[in-house]
Amino acid sequence: MSLLDHLSAKLNAISAQSLTRSLRRADNGTASRQRINGHELLMFCSNDYLGLAAEPAIAEAIAEGARRWGGGSGASPLVSGHSAAHEAVTETLARWYAPYIPQARALGFCTGYMANLAVVTALGDEHTEIFSEQLNHASLIDAARLAKAQVTRYGHADVTALRALLAASTAKVKLIVTDAVFSMDGDLAPLPELLALAEAFDAWLIVDDAHGFGVLGEKGRGSLEHFGLCSERLILVGTLGKAAGLSGAFVAAHATIVDYLLQSARNFIFSTASPPAIEHALLTSFELIDGPVGVARRANLVTLQARLRDGLLALIDQHPRLGWTMTDSATPIQPLIVGGNAEVMALATALEAAGLRVPGIRPPTVAAGTARLRITLCATHTQADVDMLLAALERAAAAQERAA
Ligand SMILES: *Cc1c(COP(=O)(O)O)cnc(C)c1O
Repeated sequence: MSLLDHLSAKLNAISAQSLTRSLRRADNGTASRQRINGHELLMFCSNDYLGLAAEPAIAEAIAEGARRWGGGSGASPLVSGHSAAHEAVTETLARWYAPYIPQARALGFCTGYMANLAVVTALGDEHTEIFSEQLNHASLIDAARLAKAQVTRYGHADVTALRALLAASTAKVKLIVTDAVFSMDGDLAPLPELLALAEAFDAWLIVDDAHGFGVLGEKGRGSLEHFGLCSERLILVGTLGKAAGLSGAFVAAHATIVDYLLQSARNFIFSTASPPAIEHALLTSFELIDGPVGVARRANLVTLQARLRDGLLALIDQHPRLGWTMTDSATPIQPLIVGGNAEVMALATALEAAGLRVPGIRPPTVAAGTARLRITLCATHTQADVDMLLAALERAAAAQERAA
């Protein structure tokens, strides 16, 4: 069979399940509004939770960084790619996380996918058992597959099951691996309970805070600040392409762990360092996250979340026959679970016709039968924006009910 025939058959099977994905080309930068095919769409899909990607101070900082440092970093960090800008970023992060992780140091990566790959493959050696939460991000799942460690999955937020698995484990090193905020559900992992288990069973806790960094906690330090955790057993991965509005990621952990990553994580050693201009701009992003702009935007997110949740609850109440549900989310990720793949895509299409962009999320990203609109809020949305989404959803719900 030719490869092309083989792939065409697989593509046809994807299409038959309403699972075809496609790229949409935007004609301006990300913000709460984006121009696509000449139409201005109000967006509820970005992970730029604080609206910093469109912040003029960030664009100016990239330009200033480029004037000072030029374009790319030219090499991997251990060769010649590590600049003073990179170091200022990791030093700031080490300072930020020192209250939560004693003797914290930080190491930078180009993406969160890379940071997860590094930490899980470097620490997950043949002496290790990885305890992996069921709803973990794809990058953590892929990293666990690549690691030499034995991998054991535990159910979503199932602390009791995890306790039994830890108690039964004879591995020399135990690593619990979890998202802090689940990216398709918006709920928080029970981190205090997970850390208590780590302490009771001599395990270590890898926390992927991609959606908590910048958003949760008074200062935006994320889920560790939100829960007020402190332990040398915490290994934090944060990403800088979401609320920080730029790109990149970091691992913050005890100095010995970070030193070991630097010595041994293959995708840290064998990959070009991020452009220094981006690192330079990250310092501006950190100032914004840390200062009054961050405080005000996080407060606005909380207000918008409450308004959206109230509206969605009322909508679900008024249309019980549709069987829509919500998750228990206290974050800017507020999914509306619709069920079927075709139904969710029809809903997304109806919203787009009303000038709103909300992505339909289907399997395998989420479990079969739980296709959903993944509504995300941005601090630069207004209450009127949220009301516009709710009104469009109300019209779409009434139409789906009539059609059913
Ligand atoms: C987005 C995301 C990542 C990957 O981060 P990138 O910087 O986009 O590669 C990792 N984990 C979670 C939970 C994410 O949502």
